[in-house]
Amino acid sequence: MEAEQLRIAMLSIHSSPVGELGTKDTGGMSVYVRELARELGKRGHFIDIFTRLKDTRQDQIAELYENVRLIHLGAGNNGHMNKLALYAHLDDFFKELEEFSDRKYDLIHSHYWLSGRVGNWAQERWQVPHVFMFHTVGAVKNSTAGSEKEPELRTAIEKYLAGNCSRILVATDKERDHLIHHYGASPETIGVVPCGVNLDLFRPLDKATSRQQLGFSQDESIVLFVGRFAPLKGIDRLMAAVAYLKDYQKLRLVIVGGDGLSTPESQNLQRLSRELGIQDSVTFVGRVEQDNLPPYYSAADALVVPSHYESFGLVALEALASGTPVVATKVGAMESILRDGETGHVVENGSSRLLANGIETFISRPHPPSADAIRSTVLRFSWANVASAMLDEYGAVLRHYHFGTCCCGNVSMG
Ligand code: UDP
Repeated sequence: MEAEQLRIAMLSIHSSPVGELGTKDTGGMSVYVRELARELGKRGHFIDIFTRLKDTRQDQIAELYENVRLIHLGAGNNGHMNKLALYAHLDDFFKELEEFSDRKYDLIHSHYWLSGRVGNWAQERWQVPHVFMFHTVGAVKNSTAGSEKEPELRTAIEKYLAGNCSRILVATDKERDHLIHHYGASPETIGVVPCGVNLDLFRPLDKATSRQQLGFSQDESIVLFVGRFAPLKGIDRLMAAVAYLKDYQKLRLVIVGGDGLSTPESQNLQRLSRELGIQDSVTFVGRVEQDNLPPYYSAADALVVPSHYESFGLVALEALASGTPVVATKVGAMESILRDGETGHVVENGSSRLLANGIETFISRPHPPSADAIRSTVLRFSWANVASAMLDEYGAVLRHYHFGTCCCGNVSMG
């Protein structure tokens, strides 16, 4: 089967690809869905992304990019609904999906377990292959200290999906191992396609100009956090690390993300900063539109990823593409995208003391590599390369589905 002009139904039910990044349920997965769809659309494939209608003022169909439509379907009430509550309405969503479908699809690509569930129903009904991405794995979250615990329903469905989709795609070898270990997935059913970064948006900017534009001091060292305010992001241990560096001359921790300063998560972090005595060295910026993030990366001396768990960690790629080094815990893709001692540092364990040492080493280096040199190490992670790798996967899945040929093997990004 030719991988030309594919018609793909993408399911991203709980989280819209154009939702507010940095808030509770909207982060890397939304970026992934929209960037991948945009690249595939550019190449002449037709992508319909199906997501839950959250606001009746939304148009049912929006033309998102060339050949890419965003389609809102109802499931339960409109407005915020937690993921477990949404589960009970997935059959409504599927019913709407069936009624809506004005074109036949060659393939279904679903994201996250809730969409995977619906993807499997559609796979059976439409008799087309179903490619599934976990994005995060419930069983791994449950075995990770500091993470919110995931319901058994999720892990049971994920285990089912691990054995019943045409293909599973993950962003790292580590995630592949997790699926084999926790869910007994067969290695040959899992493909590895790394995530990408928007290299046009994230590029090095002048540090002094960026700081001036953002109102940051030129004399302070700036360490940056960018992400959702979820317990597994480890913002608390980053703060404890900054407390260790209290005597370090003029260090500022800039925290970007979250659902607003008055939410309990934000209040707890502000309280912690006072308890640690670092409140004057921490700036809570709130969420920032992604288009406005580049000066934050360029203003910083290092991005810190203090997470307990990441499936990939897009913010690290964004920092590197902007020429900013990254100090990170051993999560997601960190060990493969950071050149230790050069473009970043992966701490052996997530202790605040080690994070503090890593940060101090990086911001006090006498001869750091240039921003362009740091950026050059991640140029292969363009979304165009991700789309090419994905099309290889789609092609193999379709050949396997229709002709029974093998679709195993990993995809390289050069
Ligand atoms: N992000 C953003 N504004 C914010 C916070 C985050 O645009 O205020 C974006 C960030 O640029 C990145 C994504 O949200 O692309 C977070 O992805 P990551 O993989 O780091 O974390 P996840 O949300 O998937 O856990």
